Amino acid sequence: MGAVGGRRARAVGRDETSGGGGRNELGQEERAFHMAIAHFLTRADVRPSPNGDAVGETHVIALANQKGGVAKTTTTLNLGVAFAEHGLRVLLVDLDPQGNLTMSQGMNPDTIERSMFDVLVHRLPLEQVIERREVDVAVASIDLAGAELSLSSQIGRERALDKALAPVRSRYDYILIDTPPSLGLLTINAFVAASGVIVPVQCEYLSLRGLVQLENTLAMVRENLNPNVEIIGILPTMFDKRTIHAREAIEILRENFGDLVYNTKIRKTVRYAEAPVKGSSVLAYDPNGDAAVLYRDLAKEVLNGAEAREHA
Ligand code: ADP
Ligand code: MG
Repeated sequence: MGAVGGRRARAVGRDETSGGGGRNELGQEERAFHMAIAHFLTRADVRPSPNGDAVGETHVIALANQKGGVAKTTTTLNLGVAFAEHGLRVLLVDLDPQGNLTMSQGMNPDTIERSMFDVLVHRLPLEQVIERREVDVAVASIDLAGAELSLSSQIGRERALDKALAPVRSRYDYILIDTPPSLGLLTINAFVAASGVIVPVQCEYLSLRGLVQLENTLAMVRENLNPNVEIIGILPTMFDKRTIHAREAIEILRENFGDLVYNTKIRKTVRYAEAPVKGSSVLAYDPNGDAAVLYRDLAKEVLNGAEAREHA
């Protein structure tokens, strides 16, 4: 990796990229995307940073992308554990009915009795579903799949998570929410509870259309439910520097999203799949390996992002 510490490329001006530079993958839809994407860039320099708030404030970050398999869960766990290495108090919330985050800390979602389902639907106090592992995890079970339906008829259905977090918020410096691969009610609940969203994107199957759709959903949440939430960073994952395609994907991201794209690129390695099988983060599984170092780099970048940008 290059320099750590959160320096990001400065936002690429829209004008520099709007001349139809001929990115073949985007083809004729390019201009429409640029228009839709423009408002990311206009906000890029003013977005509040997780580090820029009052001392002692809890930062709630949702990891979201409606596409599956982009490393949302992997990033939630390993970023959380990397924060904990800095002495920060971390809670991870598993909001995906598949329970991959819960599994990746060695627990079985099929045998868990009380989970985020009970918290959201039956208002069970959230602290009763927190398991202490490498960091604290509010666990999911398979019945979370029914939460969207059960919640849908409730008043305040979009605020269930925000409310549930209130009593435990002050105990943590960072609360990271792992979301399912959809923009449904569970993910909306995460957006209402969060102030920042980190979007992992897989370099191989880059979907700018998906990112625009995600930003549209966030815009609706801002308008109606939580004016503060916004994308604080886009994380390239499963990066294989040997392929031209992956390098092009990074270029396209930078052209469109400027300094929202983290400098840290999470490389493709089987370590990330091996660690959860052992019920472990990659930082515990292979503490000195490259895979762990990359998430430590990301943690520094998230923690220092604002500072670096202010001095850029
Ligand atoms: P999501 O939560 O977005 O569905 P996951 O974090 O579960 O994605 O990752 C999908 C799969 O890819 C998992 O098997 C995971 O172990 C693996 N994986 C995650 N990050 C990487 C990476 N950088 N390189 C290779 N495999 C990865
Ligand atoms: Mg997942």
